[in-house]
Amino acid sequence: MIPQNMTKFYINGEWVEPVSKTRLGVENPATEEIVCEVALGNDDDADRAIMAARAAFDAWTVTSVAERIALVKRILELYNERYEDFARVMSTEMGAPITWARSAQAWAGQVHLEATIKAAEEMTWEYMRGTTRIVHEGIGVCALITPWNWPMNQIVCKVAPALIAGCTMVLKPSEIAPLSGVLFAQLMHDAGVPKGVFNLVNGDGPGVGTRITSHPEVDMVSFTGSTRAGTAIAAAAAPTVKRVAQELGGKSPNIILASANIAEAVAAGVNAVMSNTGQSCDAPTRMLVPRNRHAEALAAAKEAADAIITGDPLDENTVLGPLVSKLQFEKVQRLIQAGIDEGAELVTGGVGRPADLNRGWFVRPTVFGGVDNSMTISKEEIFGPVLAIQPYDDIDDAVAQANDTVYGLAAYIAGPVEDAKPVARRLRAGTVNLNYPDWDTSAPFGGYKQSGNGREYADWGIHDFCEVKGIVGWG
Ligand code: NAD
Repeated sequence: MIPQNMTKFYINGEWVEPVSKTRLGVENPATEEIVCEVALGNDDDADRAIMAARAAFDAWTVTSVAERIALVKRILELYNERYEDFARVMSTEMGAPITWARSAQAWAGQVHLEATIKAAEEMTWEYMRGTTRIVHEGIGVCALITPWNWPMNQIVCKVAPALIAGCTMVLKPSEIAPLSGVLFAQLMHDAGVPKGVFNLVNGDGPGVGTRITSHPEVDMVSFTGSTRAGTAIAAAAAPTVKRVAQELGGKSPNIILASANIAEAVAAGVNAVMSNTGQSCDAPTRMLVPRNRHAEALAAAKEAADAIITGDPLDENTVLGPLVSKLQFEKVQRLIQAGIDEGAELVTGGVGRPADLNRGWFVRPTVFGGVDNSMTISKEEIFGPVLAIQPYDDIDDAVAQANDTVYGLAAYIAGPVEDAKPVARRLRAGTVNLNYPDWDTSAPFGGYKQSGNGREYADWGIHDFCEVKGIVGWG
């Protein structure tokens, strides 16, 4: 299904015709067909949305927290009613296999709405310290910029806490996957979000993106995407001292301990890196295995990768869909070739499309062995179903290799929990996952180092959208 109003923007409570006449074709990456056009805004469109958000702020931010929670509960109700629609549009815009779109992509939007509501209900919004009243308040007008790889996860992780904190906002989803954002804007309208509190303008980075991150009436930018865009955004935001929260790239290590069941831990690691066709910022892309178990690890990884069913996203048995675009396809091909050229051992997969898939941006699930930290495939974020397996000598070497990266979003350890705990403390990453746990929507999510700053999810996300005021002499 294609949402209505793809060539309009949602500003001040209504769907409006853009000032800009520029449009972009939206491609289904599984078929390479253009399914519709999306309007790409210009500075005038961005300004109109920002001024609507500015005008709505004073009235919205003095509403009670209870009132704002009630609104997000209404949004959740409607989200649940339209759950299948969200799964279907994400399958269309990014090629997510339909079972994955339901069980992970649409599900993520739902569980983050639930987690934000629960956190808001439990949070201490105001309290006394001595004679000072400490008060949490919304930062102001927020620019929310999201990528294409987990569309509803990222939209909800920004919109829900911003609303609850008492902020108003302009959302700019990725121009590569704009369907779910438009569907969500209609939901916001139907849920009764007051005029101007939530606005949606589609556009690209150089256009709307640059305008909303530099405009003096915007108080905060919350951005998820590449480190390259994140640095440009921080620079654009600096002259007006905007708060900037950034969730950026990653190159997450996965240490398989010597005491682990190697075959099981490796197979689970392969499935984790391949899920979402490798297009997750926290994917465990660098698997570190004991050197004397390297051959065993490669055999287990090959078996697991070769068992993955790649194909039509609408087939309920498909596990791996295409990459999101031709651009990403070419980038992943180039990086697989770099792995081969730099002397890594190609265990399975490789360049080219999988057999019988001649249309769509499908790539072969690929595993490299014998990788070391100097190789491009160990350093660069690939954002495709490609695993690099690296041998280590002892646990100090494993920790050193794990931390030897500019990124610090996530890390993984597989093996007995008591053996993993001391290693977890030594890893420089915002999240350390022990034995591939279920997604914890109440744990902080965000990066060390060049993976960003700020934390999303539950109360962590709400705090990102709050200023803290001290009213001294209160009583
Ligand atoms: P991208 O950085 O190219 O684009 C992300 C968003 O930023 C899009 O909406 C885009 O239009 C906008 N944008 C681009 N340049 C901009 C600029 N100069 N000013 C303002 N806005 C700009 O990233 P992408 O290709 O859409 O997504 C993939 C990247 O996102 C990967 O690097 C991945 O690791 C990262 N990512 C990180 C997280 C996280 O939580 N840390 C989550 C998902 C994706």
